[in-house]
Amino acid sequence: MNENVVHSRVTADTCLSVRIFTHHHQMNKRGNKVYLTTHVPIYEYLCHFSSGPAKWVANFPIADGPRQSPIDIVPGEASYDAGLKPLSIKYDPSTCLDILNNGHSFQVTFVDDNDSSTLTDGPISGTYRLKQFHFHWGAADDRGSEHTVAGTKYAAELHLVHWNTAYPSFGEAASKPDGLAVVGVFLQVGAENASLQRLLDAFDSIKTKGSQTSFANFDPSTMLPGCLDYWTYDGSLTTPPLLESVTWIVCKEPVSVSPEQMAKFRSLLFSADGEAECCMMDNYRPPQPLKGRPVRASFQ
Ligand SMILES: [Zn+2]
Repeated sequence: MNENVVHSRVTADTCLSVRIFTHHHQMNKRGNKVYLTTHVPIYEYLCHFSSGPAKWVANFPIADGPRQSPIDIVPGEASYDAGLKPLSIKYDPSTCLDILNNGHSFQVTFVDDNDSSTLTDGPISGTYRLKQFHFHWGAADDRGSEHTVAGTKYAAELHLVHWNTAYPSFGEAASKPDGLAVVGVFLQVGAENASLQRLLDAFDSIKTKGSQTSFANFDPSTMLPGCLDYWTYDGSLTTPPLLESVTWIVCKEPVSVSPEQMAKFRSLLFSADGEAECCMMDNYRPPQPLKGRPVRASFQ
């Protein structure tokens, strides 16, 4: 079958809910073009995620932009910046709302109508509010993180997403060069991580895409490493629409996760209730070109 994408239209309801409408044509037996329209939720690509990110550029040209994420962090090429302050993280467990399978990861959402849970200092100025956190992980323990360190992949990566209160809302901040700050934490396979267990225990309630349940009184600071030394650089969202609005703060020290806990991550599904089951895994974007950007380290 000779099938070509001739036109695509993209709509974004929110930055994390994107649908692609693709018009294909193929030749029928008489050699005439027959046009077809398919409505493809973009995250269905995740069942074949290894080819998914490579296709994003067709609909999101910024995928080839100057400040895309993730990147490979080469410690020897990062410059120590004595002017970088320690991170100041203040999370109020009572702002934790719910846990959701959004079809490409699971995320925990927070009340963000006040300054109860914030990130300040570090490389940013002003106050950034916690909006949500989510993870990326692999089909096996030898991969799964988005950032890599001198080529080393970790089994998973936690992203704590904050938005700059200089803007009126997360949605407005998400398109500004200094709109978002994401703290990344690597998960390294080893000992069981007790602070992840409440999340994992909720997975039975959010197995399929679109499922959601309340998740109260969780303190995400319990998932941070003991040492908050970090690398920082200017980057982007790592899923469409790939907006170049993120100050990345990647913690040097990983936290642990057991092989059994990693297996539990892979019990979630990309698919919705009633669809063919498709296990959620390999939901990471590979490193993107640095394009001359400086990477700074808060430590020597
Ligand atoms: Zn992420």
